[in-house]
Amino acid sequence: MEADILDGKAIAATMKGEIVAEVAVFKEKFGWVPGIAVVQVGADPASSRYVKQIGKSFEEAGMTFRLETLDESTGQDEVVRLVQSLNADRAVNGIIVQMPLPKHISQDVIASTISPAKDVDGINPVNAGYLLAGAGSYFAPATPSGGMEILHRSGVEIAGKRAVIVGRSNIVGKPMACLLLHEHATVTICHSRTKDLAAVAREADILVAAIGKARMITADFIKPGAAVIDFGINVVDGKVVGDVDFEGAKGVAGAITPVPGGTGPMTNIVLMRNTLRAANEAAELK
Ligand code: NDP
Repeated sequence: MEADILDGKAIAATMKGEIVAEVAVFKEKFGWVPGIAVVQVGADPASSRYVKQIGKSFEEAGMTFRLETLDESTGQDEVVRLVQSLNADRAVNGIIVQMPLPKHISQDVIASTISPAKDVDGINPVNAGYLLAGAGSYFAPATPSGGMEILHRSGVEIAGKRAVIVGRSNIVGKPMACLLLHEHATVTICHSRTKDLAAVAREADILVAAIGKARMITADFIKPGAAVIDFGINVVDGKVVGDVDFEGAKGVAGAITPVPGGTGPMTNIVLMRNTLRAANEAAELK
C-alpha cells in the first residue's frame, strides 16, 4: 500500500485562512495590524526570492511587511543598530534577519540582538534556551514548528513513539528534536558521524530528514508504516527534490511529506502565526 501524502500545501492553505480571520479580529479589536520586518544584507537571488514570498504571504493575510535591504559591505555595527531600531519600533512585531550573513558579520551577535519578543523564527539564544528547557513562553524556529504542525494536523501520534532525526542544525534538526521530545517521543539525533545510519533510521516511527543531500534517505532507511517528514530542499537538474527518495520511500512509509508541497509551504505560515502572536502579546502590554 502506498503512503498517505502529508499535504503541507493544503495544511498551509487552511492555516492561512485561520490567520486571515484572526488578523481581521485583531484589527477590529486594536485598530492596527501586525507586521514583520525582514533585514537582508546583500542580494543573494535565492534569498531575495524567499523574502519576496514572505512579503506576499504577509500582505495577503492583511499584515504589514517591511523589507530593509543593506549592501553586502555593510558593517556589523550598522546591522546591529538597524535591528535595535526595529526592536524599538511599535509597528514591527516580528523581525527576521536573512541568513547566512556575509562573513564579516557574526550570526551570533545579530541573533542575540533581535528582541526575544519579536524573534519569530526563534534564533535568539533566549528563545533557544526556553525551547531546550520546554519552559516559559518562547518562539521555536519556524521550519521545525511547521513540521510539527503537519504531524498534528495529520493525526500522527507522537507520544511514546520512536523519532529519529537526521541532521543536527540549530534551525532544523535540534529544535525538531526538542519539539518532539516535549511531546513525549523517544528521540534520537543522527548526523554525519552516525554509524550505520540506515539501521538507526529504521527504528523510527517518525523519521525526520534535515540533511541537505538530495534523495539520501532511501526506502531501506524506513520502517514499514513510519511517518516521514522531509525538510530537504535540493535542486537537481533544475528540479526541487527532498532529502528523501520520495518515489522509493512512498512504497514503504505509512505517511510522507512530498517535496515540494510538504514542509516548505509551512515555514511562512508559522512566521505569520508567530508574528500575530507577538502582536497580541505586545497589544496586551500597551
Ligand atoms: P545544515 O547543513 O546546517 O545541517 C545538515 C545536517 O545534516 C548536519 O547536522 C550534518 O551533520 C547532517 N548530515 C550531512 N550529511 C550527512 C550524512 N551523509 N549522513 C548523516 N547526516 C548528515 O542544514 P540545515 O539544517 O540548515 O538544512 C537541512 C535541509 O533543510 C536543507 O536541505 C535545507 O535546504 C532545508 N531547509 C528547509 C527549510 C524549509 O523551509 N523547509 C528551511 C531551512 C532549511 P554534521 O552536523 O555532522 O555535519
